[in-house]
Amino acid sequence: TERTLVLIKPDGVERSLVGDIISRIERKGLSLVALELKTVSDEVARGHYAEHEGKPFYPSLLEFITSGPLVAAVLEGPRAVAAFRQIAGGTDPVEKAVPGTIRGDFALSTQNNLVHGSDSPESAEREIALWFPDLGV
Ligand code: ATP
Repeated sequence: TERTLVLIKPDGVERSLVGDIISRIERKGLSLVALELKTVSDEVARGHYAEHEGKPFYPSLLEFITSGPLVAAVLEGPRAVAAFRQIAGGTDPVEKAVPGTIRGDFALSTQNNLVHGSDSPESAEREIALWFPDLGV
């Protein structure tokens, strides 16, 4: 079994899509290990998106992710990292995400694309430690 860190970004909370997104996670068969509504500090946002520092969209991305409450969750299940990325769809919700995925069904913007999911088990460990420092690994 495997764990992954998922965010329902501020656009998902703002648009009242939290229930739908969690329902999709549950119906896929992934288990919720942790779930919390939080407004993120600039420090956590920078830690989370460290790999994107210096890219043109980085300042705007930090502003977006700290703009309001988001939902952070830890999911568990077989191949949880890939399974969540499958139901999320590709980063660009129009060119990459297909209908039937969270982004393909509900998003238009590459930045405001509703969800984040860890991209590897190693990223998941790092991100879970950042978002849920009290959760034992
Ligand atoms: P996430 O890491 O959030 O699951 P991802 O792995 O699909 O997304 P990354 O390439 O890691 O995508 O980018 C992280 C986030 O940065 C994206 O989800 C999106 O919100 C934002 N982003 C990525 N590329 C762009 C871009 N070209 N323009 C604006 N925002 C972008």
